[in-house]
Amino acid sequence: VLVLGIESSCDETAAALVDGERRIVAQRIASQDEEHAPFGGVVPEIAARAHAERLAPMIEGVLADAGVKLADLDAIAATAGPGLIGGVMVGLVSAKALAMASGVPLIAVNHLEGHALSPRLADEHLEFPYALLLVSGGHCQILQVDGVGQYRRLATTIDDALGEAFDKTAKILGLGFPGGPAVERIAKEGDAKVVPLPRPMVGSGEPHFSFAGLKSAVLRAHESGKYEAPDIAASFQQAAIDCVVDRLTIALAEMDAVKTLVVAGGVAANASVRGALEAVADKRGLRFTAPPPKLCTDNAAMIAWAGIERLGLDGFAPDPLDISARPRWPLDPQAEPVRGAGV
Ligand code: ATP
Ligand code: MG
Ligand code: FE
Repeated sequence: VLVLGIESSCDETAAALVDGERRIVAQRIASQDEEHAPFGGVVPEIAARAHAERLAPMIEGVLADAGVKLADLDAIAATAGPGLIGGVMVGLVSAKALAMASGVPLIAVNHLEGHALSPRLADEHLEFPYALLLVSGGHCQILQVDGVGQYRRLATTIDDALGEAFDKTAKILGLGFPGGPAVERIAKEGDAKVVPLPRPMVGSGEPHFSFAGLKSAVLRAHESGKYEAPDIAASFQQAAIDCVVDRLTIALAEMDAVKTLVVAGGVAANASVRGALEAVADKRGLRFTAPPPKLCTDNAAMIAWAGIERLGLDGFAPDPLDISARPRWPLDPQAEPVRGAGV
């Protein structure tokens, strides 16, 4: 089995070839950090344009790297949402054109499903069901993953996502964009006990998240002039981790038959977050697994892998070539809407 994955939902343009043995046969990725850095965040118009310029040569590139032709593929899997609609359309339209020209089946992948299944690309021993903390720039959810396409959402955020909180903290501290890796870096030189910060939602009986209040407290601490940036970063990171551990503990109590705790999405690249989750898993007798950091942030290998997982389902059917891109696309359509939740 050989599948081409295409990712363009945010600010990484990426193409990858993955095979049924979990090998990433070829991959290329172009980040747009430099284009967006002057604006302190992703500018949708700039992102869409950059994807449009880069994607076609990138797809040709991975096919050339692997020495394969379109006709050798079993499927073309592209992110069809959720994300910035202009970018998603660039990737999906490219995939449709290639599928139409070659007759290779199209698979329209939910970007969140890409993140959710990425741990299975990295870890062949990871079996369903598992508990998943999905923490990225736009999402912050706890899910029970029962199988491919079977996701039960237990928690979401009522305001900001965890990655967004890292990005805003970085912006406040003048660390540039993207913020997560920069906050992690300077937090290593700081003391997490110096700045008193709130732990929003901790103690609440439902496992949802909230990070807006934490971000505001970071802003006030910074503006007070009393604290050094590394101490603020370290204190923020610890507060965020305390929230995650507390929320996860509540959610895990509501899950059944789960043997593994898994983290995915961009924030899963954070070593302190991973360490804290490993401790939670240890305490509860669960195995812990996380993809390598490069598979945590946006990439096309996880999209190709989600395609491979879909191909393996009984009754697999390719997606129609007129399928639409979706700016919003919940993984669990049954999930109760949460008051105040943007996602
Ligand atoms: P989504 O998947 O929700 O559509 P996205 O595609 O923007 O959002 P990802 O690429 O999966 O998100 O993740 C990017 C986010 O991860 C950013 O908010 C970034 O700051 C954060 N991040 C990346 N590395 C780290 C790190 N080492 N520590 C903390 N946060 C990190
Ligand atoms: Mg990015
Ligand atoms: Fe993502």
